[in-house]
Amino acid sequence: MEPQICIFNIQKFSIHDGPGIRTVVFFKGCPLRCYWCANPESQRVAPEKMWEEQRQKTTIVGEYRTIAEIMEKVLQDEPFYEESGGGVTLSGGEILQQPAGALALLRALKARGIHTACETTGAADEKVFAEFLDQVDLIFFDVKHYDALRHQKGTGQTNTRILNNLQQALTSSAEVIVRIPVIPGFNAALSDAHHFVELFHELQVKKLELLPFHQFGEKKYTALQRNYRLKGVPQIHSEDLTDYAKIFTDHHIDCLVR
Ligand code: SF4
Repeated sequence: MEPQICIFNIQKFSIHDGPGIRTVVFFKGCPLRCYWCANPESQRVAPEKMWEEQRQKTTIVGEYRTIAEIMEKVLQDEPFYEESGGGVTLSGGEILQQPAGALALLRALKARGIHTACETTGAADEKVFAEFLDQVDLIFFDVKHYDALRHQKGTGQTNTRILNNLQQALTSSAEVIVRIPVIPGFNAALSDAHHFVELFHELQVKKLELLPFHQFGEKKYTALQRNYRLKGVPQIHSEDLTDYAKIFTDHHIDCLVR
């Protein structure tokens, strides 16, 4: 039977999630529980209720779709992908939390000759990750902390499996861009940047993006009736990361602040 995927959004005409014009398919479900998560509605792998302040009503976030249904939707913009050198990006949550669906969708896209990009936490079974690497052209790979215990404190899991998968990705044919979400009190000190440099040199990471902490997700916690630990914590602006970013560029890692 064809796998169904629980998704919470399909966003067309995106220009920030890979080259060219793209459609982004957002998978629901994530094995991590980062305390700063800006998309808490993406964490559970099933539809769930959420209060919508603007419309003053409860809505359901997430729906199950077949590969054929998702393909029909993303193929509507195929001419734009061809003209702009774009394609389809799979995001989440963590797409490999629904491995059968993610791999089937990636295969369908590749069979059609569409460029595939994926945003991943890397928190996935290593064998599944190896299969995934065969189907993807570009990977945005989140690395949240260099230290296993501090990673566990911040996300609920150590980084061991994640770093193994990052190593697999970096030795594959896919292009890899590592992303650090820079979170106050977790990994935002300049000493943290130096530790990341050590790790990235070991793994031979060449390209990095910094994602400064923002508060866009704050209201969603209330809407989902969940606790939010970073209430009122000031956002980080890209200009605040000038010195942090320089530590990477000084060590020959191409670094962009988003
Ligand atoms: S990995 Fe991303 S989606 Fe998952 S909990 Fe962390 S921030 Fe949220």
